[in-house]
Order: sequence, then C-alpha cells, then structure tokens
Amino acid sequence: MEKIKKKSISELNIPDKIKGYSQIRLDVDLTKGSLKESKLSKEFCRDWIGGYGFGAKILWDELKPRIDPLSSENIFVWAIGPFPVTILPTSSKYGVFAKSPLTNYFGMAISSGSIAAQARRAGVNAIVIKGKASEPVYLVIDDEDRYLVPCKKSLWGKDCWEIDEIIKKEFNDHRLGVMAIGPAGERCSRMGCITNDRNRQAGRTGMGAVMGSKNLKAIVFRGTKGVEVAYPKEFYQLAKKLIKVANGPATAKYRDQGTPAGLVSYNKLGMMPSYNHREGTYDHIDVINGDVLNKEYVVKKVACSQCSIACDHLARVPKNHPDYPNLVASVDIELIYGFGTGTGCYDWPTIFKCIQLCDTLGVDAISTGVTAAMACELYDLGIITKEELGYELPFGSTKNLVRFTEEMIKGIGFAGKIFGDGTKIAGKRLEEMGKKNASYYGMHIKGLEMPAFDIHGMSSFAVGESVSIRGACHLRNGAYQLDVKGNFDRFGYDKPLERGKEIVAIEDIYAIVDSFVICKFTRGIYENDAEIAKVYELVTGIPMTEEKLKERGAAIVTLSKCFNIREGWTRAEDHPPERFFKEAHTKGPAKGVTLKEEGYQTLLSGYYQARGWDEKGIPTDETLRKLGLDFVIGKIKKK
Ligand code: SF4
Repeated sequence: MEKIKKKSISELNIPDKIKGYSQIRLDVDLTKGSLKESKLSKEFCRDWIGGYGFGAKILWDELKPRIDPLSSENIFVWAIGPFPVTILPTSSKYGVFAKSPLTNYFGMAISSGSIAAQARRAGVNAIVIKGKASEPVYLVIDDEDRYLVPCKKSLWGKDCWEIDEIIKKEFNDHRLGVMAIGPAGERCSRMGCITNDRNRQAGRTGMGAVMGSKNLKAIVFRGTKGVEVAYPKEFYQLAKKLIKVANGPATAKYRDQGTPAGLVSYNKLGMMPSYNHREGTYDHIDVINGDVLNKEYVVKKVACSQCSIACDHLARVPKNHPDYPNLVASVDIELIYGFGTGTGCYDWPTIFKCIQLCDTLGVDAISTGVTAAMACELYDLGIITKEELGYELPFGSTKNLVRFTEEMIKGIGFAGKIFGDGTKIAGKRLEEMGKKNASYYGMHIKGLEMPAFDIHGMSSFAVGESVSIRGACHLRNGAYQLDVKGNFDRFGYDKPLERGKEIVAIEDIYAIVDSFVICKFTRGIYENDAEIAKVYELVTGIPMTEEKLKERGAAIVTLSKCFNIREGWTRAEDHPPERFFKEAHTKGPAKGVTLKEEGYQTLLSGYYQARGWDEKGIPTDETLRKLGLDFVIGKIKKK
C-alpha cells in the first residue's frame, strides 16, 4: 500500500466556528485506503456534546443494522469533546465506539492518558473508520498530515508495549500518543482492548477486536496547536477553583490508595465479589487490600495529561522474587477483583503478572479476570477437568492461574479455545460439549463481564448495572452509589419510581461526563450540575443550562438504547445472572440474601417509567420527540 498523505482542512475557514471543538471529522476508508476531512456542524456538537454522544449519533446514522461486528461493515468511531488541551482537570480522555463483538450491542470504551491532548493539538475531533485494509496498517495523525502506513512486517504480532516503543523511536518523539492493539486484538479475541500510554486501556466491549478485524494495528497522534476557549478569563477562574478542589479531599482516596481503597469498604458491606460471586466478602482481605498493596508494592503514582490526581498506582514485584522479579503492573480494584478476590488468589505477584499479561497482549483485564474466575469455579465443580486443561485450576491458584490466563489471551490450548472470548461464549461452547449448566457460572450481563460489585444485597444497582447500554457496567450507570450510601433499602424493592428517577439521573450525568469526556473521579469536584453546564458554556461559547445538559444526557442514553433495540434487544436482557436470585452468600452482611425476581421486575419497570419508556423498555414516540430524537420514530420495532 502506498503511503497516503493529505493536506488537512483544519486551517480552512469554518463559518460557524465554535470554541473548544476543532470540528474536524476525519473519515478513513480502509478498503480504499482513502482519507477525507469534513466539518462537524455547530448543531451537531451542541446536541451530541462529544465522545459518547458523537459515537451514539454516528453509529445510529451510519451503521447498517444487524451486521457481524467483526466484519468489514462495522464502523469504528473515535471521538473527543471540547476540553482536551484546556486546563480543565482530567480532560485528556477519548472514547471509541462500534458494534460490540462481545455483546452484539452498542460497544464503547473510554481511555485516559495523552492521546486526547495530542489528537486535539493535531486538530481532530472525531475519526470514523470503515472497511478493512488489505494488509495491516496504522493511521498517523501528525499535525496537518493524516496517512496510513503498512505495518505487516514492522508491527503486526508485536505486543502493546513494544509497538509504543517502536513507533516512538521511528518518529524520534517520546511525547507521541500511540493507541494500539496487541496479539489478542489481531486474532479478534472478543475481549481485545486498545492500550495507550502503556497502562491506559479502552478496555471494554472488545473494541480492540474491531480494530483487529479491520487490520488496523494502531493510531498515532502528534500535534502542536493550542485551543481557544470562548470566555478565557471566566474559564480560567473556574478551572483554577476546580483544580484546587481536585487536589483536595474530594479526590484524596484516588490519590492516596487509588481505587483499591474500595476493597475493605466494599468487603464490609458484603459487596466485594469473591469466588466468582459466590460470596460478597473475601477470606483474605487482610492480605488483599489497599494498605498492603501501597505499603509493600506500589513504587510510583502516575497521572494522565491534564490531571494532578495521579490515580494510576504502579506496583513492582520485589527483585528477589523467583518467578517475576521486578515485574511492574498498573493496579486498580477491578483487576484485583478479577484476578484476586474473584479467583480466590491472594498472591500479589501472581495478580500483577496476570494484569501485565492483559496489558501487553491487549485484552480487557476485567473481562479476562472474570472469565478466569468462571473457569476456577467450573474446575471446582468438576465441570472442567485437569485432563482437559492440562493442569489443575482450583480457586486460589497461582502459577496455574498465570498459565491459564496466558493461554486464554493467546487463544491456545483448552483455555484459549473455550475461554478466549469471554464468559458468555465460554458457557455456550461448554454446553455444546454437553457440559450442562456451564453458562450459569458466567458472570456477565448482555455478554459483558461484571465489575467489582456483588449485587446480592444491592437492589438499586442490580437494576442500574443491568440496564447499562454496554452490558454489566458501573461506569455507564453508577447506581451502586444508592446502595453504598443507603439512599434506599438495598435489600428491598420499595419506591420503584423514586429509585428509577435517581438511577436515571446518575446515568444521564454519566452520559455527559463520557461525552465531555472527563474522568468520573472528578465528578465530585463540581459544586453541582449547573457548574458542569457552566464549564461547557465557558469553553465552547454555546449557551448551556443544567436542564438542557441533562436532556442531552437522556437523549444520548436513549439513542444508544434505540441502537440496541434495533439490534434485537428485549427486556429479558436487562437482567442480572440467575446466580443472584438462586444462591445466597454463606457469610457477611448479605448472608442469606438473594435478589427477588418480582421485586427486581418492579424496580426495572420503575426505571423504564422514569425514562418515559414503555413496559417493554421501548422509548415512546412522545419521549423520543421530547428528546429531539424524532428521526428514530418508526425505526425501532415495537416487540
Ligand atoms: S483521575 Fe486517574 S484516570 Fe483520571 S485523568 Fe487522573 S490519573 Fe487519569
């Protein structure tokens, strides 16, 4: 393939130019090897905000329904909002969007690091990638230049950290932003993720597999431009205040212990998933907790561009360790749950090794950890055997857990063949082999593996996590806060409409945060939602109120819901795994508790009602009109 070089239109006059946004959309047709730039209108930016909103609208408009997500027909969208390169805290974040090969529904993943800032300096706001390259390529966005580079010999087969080093060396620039897939994405593992800045991932819903299916190994960003804001003085004052708050108590726990601070507190509430969600408390919490991690292993705290919180905690295995001397891994609670409490492992170096395998080979470490936990339980129950695996895999495994994880990611052996695409497909494959009931032990919703909350005693989050557009997720819907803070009876099912409204409110503001795109860790630094609207207005110059912003959040969630409905979603899929209804914990605060089907369905109906969706979970025409989604009317089947 020829190297393609094209002059950007970034410097051309844009009549309805708004601040913050570059308004440049780059279209890449990998089949043809062509690149084209166009302008995002002011109205498009205003209505869809950025990141998540851009992804939802572009996929709704341009993706053919019911396609195979790993075919060339899928569309890969990359997008940012108006904030990268401004001084707004935690604003160097981007989102990627496509039909998910893991869930077959709306797929999305968000990542931090340096990418968004470099991309904005190079003047791109959104990239829409279609087709499939005839051979592996990577895309370069280098200030005014955008081009594709063949890389079959130079990069294909390399892991995510190697690629980062090779490309930076080639450009002789260590500030370069590189987002890349590893061997897992290349082989289209449905858990394949995208890695940037070594330890930052657009992890969930298999977005790395979509890149792999398009023969797209990496996207490289470098830029030198600044960004203009509409009201510089006022924005500077507000941002200065926000930075000060961001350096204070509101985010202290992320700075001090990082997310592992939650291990002990969730354990106390019986919400710390252990042994593949059999229990909500962990037998080895005296070893596996944030204090021990920080005292004995953390060697460095790392921040993304435009962030002073530095929540990324790097842990190192001691140099005298027999198996993994000096190994360094980026650790957070989700991964400690996946490879630690979930699998019953309480050996820190083993957990670090598994995380590093995920990060270098390019798989979502949450999905991979939860899939490993499923395998441990299946082994424990005799549903899979030593003869099949080639080794033992009880809860609490160490070296064999590492071996299983590596095989699973690389797609080799029984582990890779059965478990290499996540829990849902693993269950299906095992049942096809005659292993009845294997799917029951896959802890996922809509195919996406569950995050680090055990929902036996979390009736509000049971709904929030289940309705999440991308499958089981605490970052699309943060309703776990309602259970943790005790806003409602977390073991009961009263006040369905009131709860529904609260769950909706959290979900809508999260949709805005993911469209801005900023870190949820800084949600608490804003005095209120009006201040979130204010910051948008000061940067873009587009008048914005709290009400309008919330309406756009609701529109973004509803449009991505409509995407799922168009793909065949039904109410039955907004449902947690059966385990939570059938088996109770044997100890801890949620001992003896299960979710109750009738109560759960009542709360689910309350959520739909609060959204203005019908009993089947389909948005009514009236709701669609109210949210400015008239273009959807008649395009989703009423089942
Ligand atoms: S809070 Fe953590 S993830 Fe968010 S921008 Fe800062 S360092 Fe990055």
